[in-house]
Amino acid sequence: MALILCPNCNKRVSDKAQQCPHCQVDLQSDLGSLLRIQHIRKSQQLMTQSFIAMTLFIAGMVLWFWGGEVATGLRSYAALACFVFGFVGYLIVRIRMVLHKRNSV
Ligand SMILES: [Zn+2]
Repeated sequence: MALILCPNCNKRVSDKAQQCPHCQVDLQSDLGSLLRIQHIRKSQQLMTQSFIAMTLFIAGMVLWFWGGEVATGLRSYAALACFVFGFVGYLIVRIRMVLHKRNSV
């Protein structure tokens, strides 16, 4: 008997259990499809996050060059913050995507 994580509620359950004692999801018949759904959901979540990071990065760029002149003062700080958060965030999401693909079902 081994312990697995319930694909629905992420709590530990026996792999022999018919249904999850925590959330009552049917483990025997749905386990494969539940894991697949969970994987797809996570992929979509990562896609959304990478999109947000990219948007932030572009927003930083737009903010920086708005009106054809390089930003100064408060605007330059805001632009720089968008830049950095967008860039770092995008890198993190990309790494998480690669790791996520590695343990695909
Ligand atoms: Zn559960």
